[in-house]
Amino acid sequence: MNSKIFRSSFFTTFLVLIAAIVFIMGILFDVFEKQIQREAATEAEYLARAVESEGADFLSEFNGTDRRITLIDADGNVLFDNQTNADTLDNHAKREEIKQAMETGKGMSIRYSKTLTEKTLYYAVKLSDSSILRVSTNQYTVFTILLGLLQPIILILVIALILTAVLSSRVSKAIIKPINELDLEYPDKNETYEELTPLLRKISEQKRTISQQLAEAKKKQNEFNLITENMNEGFLIIDKDTNILTHNGAALKLLGIENPASDSALALCRTKEFREVVTNSLSSEKAQSIMKQNDRAYSLIASPVFENENVIGAVIIIIDITEIEKREEMRREFTANVSHELKTPLTSISGFAELMKNGGVPNETVTDFSKSIYDEAQRLISLVNDIIKISELDEKSISLESEKVDLYELSNEIIDRLKSEAAKKNVTLNNLVGINAEIVGIRKILDEMIYNLCDNAIKYNKENGTVDIIVSGTDKKISVIVRDTGIGIPPEHQSRVFERFYRVDKSHSKKVGGTGLGLAIVKHGAMYHNADISLESTEGKGTSIKITFDKN
Ligand code: ADP
Repeated sequence: MNSKIFRSSFFTTFLVLIAAIVFIMGILFDVFEKQIQREAATEAEYLARAVESEGADFLSEFNGTDRRITLIDADGNVLFDNQTNADTLDNHAKREEIKQAMETGKGMSIRYSKTLTEKTLYYAVKLSDSSILRVSTNQYTVFTILLGLLQPIILILVIALILTAVLSSRVSKAIIKPINELDLEYPDKNETYEELTPLLRKISEQKRTISQQLAEAKKKQNEFNLITENMNEGFLIIDKDTNILTHNGAALKLLGIENPASDSALALCRTKEFREVVTNSLSSEKAQSIMKQNDRAYSLIASPVFENENVIGAVIIIIDITEIEKREEMRREFTANVSHELKTPLTSISGFAELMKNGGVPNETVTDFSKSIYDEAQRLISLVNDIIKISELDEKSISLESEKVDLYELSNEIIDRLKSEAAKKNVTLNNLVGINAEIVGIRKILDEMIYNLCDNAIKYNKENGTVDIIVSGTDKKISVIVRDTGIGIPPEHQSRVFERFYRVDKSHSKKVGGTGLGLAIVKHGAMYHNADISLESTEGKGTSIKITFDKN
């Protein structure tokens, strides 16, 4: 900027200087020309007088001088010319200045050469014998004078240029230095020349506006980051060349990446589904796909981003749907199992009834058949009841209010209800030990849980076996243990007995009236109450299942 100001001021001054010199030269030319004309006139007058008194021969003294002197007789014939042989010159009677002098005593004319490059001034004076003395001078004379002036002018010009350069440099520094020293952090606080004040005011206003806009943008960015970083869903914004513009932590986490290896989103995940979703969204379609990777399932949703109907990028959302998929799978399995479990007793009922209808059952066995139908119907009822219970727990659609429940008292009630069942199997069920222990929960579910555990402890017990129920508590926890001396659960089945319809021995379970849902109901009931379940079992020796509740 400094050199630009310097150059501008230097060249401006230089041009003004040149223009001034040309202008002055023009004026000088004019002044000198008039001066020479005047001199020519005066010279002509003097020479005329000298010729009058000294005779024409006097003129020969001027042979070869710069100024041309010509003597012409009254008829226009050239009598003498100090620069040319008079005999070679033609008649001058018709020349303007001669004609004027002949008529008025004096004549003057200016003539240009054929090429117009040369200008000559003629001044003529009539003598007493009617001859004419003419002095002529040409423009070269003026140029010669000007040429003489050229040297001092060039010197002045050089001095002026040096001065201009020095002054321009100073001026540009005087302008630039305060600008360079401006403190733009605090534009209002600068003390400088007043021409800068409007600029500083404008900068100050713009700085304020920019600060406000920056603060606003930062706030929006923070809000955006807060939202995206707290999302469980992966979030990616890409440009039209698949380069990642922004992403949240969840996106990398879900794709199992710590840092993106390249700018392209395609490098984040090499699956066909991911690639297709990215490329399809960039060709202006909303794209959706399910991707399976590392035993997990992800839903990919990509929407193109438009600007003036052109796709400029895409927004990609990655959702971990593994749990949803698992639940869906479980639901499908459950439905298939339910259908199968319902079908078996119904087929038996239908078979028995058909036989009876067709009279194919002898009278003495009708009672047995009816009993079978009744048993199967009971099984169906238990099954449907268990299905309803587990579905309610599943949907968390239990409308009952939580209340204080004493697990010791509840266990006592359950023992009373199951006593006859236990007696039938020769199992001792009256060993309740422990203390009164209250928790807040849903009585119906808690009842169901302890009942199922005790029921299993009886069902899968041995002849003369026992069932112990121990209710104990600490400051923070309350636990119920149902322990039996039954057949036990082989280790390989222990982790699966809480699954729906999972039985170690299907025929045994059916024989003892099991539905395969008892422990699943216990597990869901525990989940409902945030309780933990643990199982210890030794094949042939017995099983102990413990539910631990938080004391609240
Ligand atoms: P079921 O209605 O068949 O009893 P459960 O869900 O209650 O279904 O139990 C699942 C399976 O776990 C049972 O079929 C049985 O094989 C096994 N089981 C449950 N409780 C006991 C126990 N106390 N002793 C031995 N095996 C048990």
